[in-house]
Amino acid sequence: SYSTAKNSLGSRTSESFGKYTSPVMNDHGDEHRQLLPHPMQGPGLRAATSSNHSVDEQLKNTDTHLIDLVTNEIINQGPPVDWNDIAGLDLVKAVIKEEVLWPVLRSDAFNGLTALPRSILLFGPRGTGKTLMGRCIASQLGATFFKITGSGLVTKWLGEGEKIVHASFLVARCRQPSVIFVSDIDMLLSSQVSEEHSPVSRMRTEFLMQLDTVLTSAEDQIVVICSTSKPEEIDESLRRYFMKRLLIPLPDSTARHQIIVQLLSQHNYCLNDKEVALLVQRTEGFSGLDVAHLCQEAVVGPLHAMPATDLSAIIPSQLRPVTYQDFENAFCKIQPSISQKELDTYVEWNKMFGCSQ
Ligand code: ADP
Repeated sequence: SYSTAKNSLGSRTSESFGKYTSPVMNDHGDEHRQLLPHPMQGPGLRAATSSNHSVDEQLKNTDTHLIDLVTNEIINQGPPVDWNDIAGLDLVKAVIKEEVLWPVLRSDAFNGLTALPRSILLFGPRGTGKTLMGRCIASQLGATFFKITGSGLVTKWLGEGEKIVHASFLVARCRQPSVIFVSDIDMLLSSQVSEEHSPVSRMRTEFLMQLDTVLTSAEDQIVVICSTSKPEEIDESLRRYFMKRLLIPLPDSTARHQIIVQLLSQHNYCLNDKEVALLVQRTEGFSGLDVAHLCQEAVVGPLHAMPATDLSAIIPSQLRPVTYQDFENAFCKIQPSISQKELDTYVEWNKMFGCSQ
């Protein structure tokens, strides 16, 4: 059952963080890495050792500025995310556990039976938990989490994008197991990118080359997860790079209930079950992020009720509890951000190219 799986993953995870030292973070050079156990080594788990030498060599030859940039700005560990932190999405979670995590964690049992799905496309409206899911997968694998934003690559880092992509995969190989999460992947893989030698097209070529290496390597413990809210923009010849294409839809009523109760529980509130049920009803069509924004707006209601001059001196116990009226006010400011037309696009794309759930 999944709970057994989670427990055993949990212990392996904490163990691996304790023992594993990355050569990137390590002042003493490569030798240390060889001495330390591979974090995913366990019964039946293959260690990625054969290519270590060349990876270490490449790392030595890489501009330290790039390695620093990847270490400081792309590696994005954050607090661990558990399945329960993600409301709803039960089917997606089940598919990921069964088809992504298990084959990676128990490659002995799956060996030769299935191709490991090391590349996943999560598509759907913005703010529905795609990044959260990426983080959760990384946490469950005890993996280093790399977060590359497609928009960052084509704006902030345009000139260096290709090198950053290259360095990210290199560092990911050194810090295995790794999850590389690329948001707004449409920015890199859009069919609109046509000029052959443009920076974006060079980044795309580098990314696809790296992805190809991940997909064909039997030993690397790297999972690449990409997200997009515009799956239809991905060049049709590139869709095949994603072994799993999963729709992350808007939260249903149960999921919205969980998000609201979760967020309210961090505050002093006074809403009865009926009022909470009403909120769940009225947030139909909201993304998880919209619901979070609504709650954030509502919970500052009691602050607004205080005289402005006192704001800096206020201690939480002086504030009145959050009420339904605060949500009433918040609804005036926060509306659902996704249109029905956009939602229909996802359903259509899912029918044609999604992996059935
Ligand atoms: P995406 O990557 O799909 O744009 P994120 O994963 O970044 O969205 O989610 C943004 C925020 O919205 C999260 O930090 C969380 O507060 C909230 N959220 C969205 N979906 C969910 C969900 N299914 N469960 C819990 N919180 C969610």
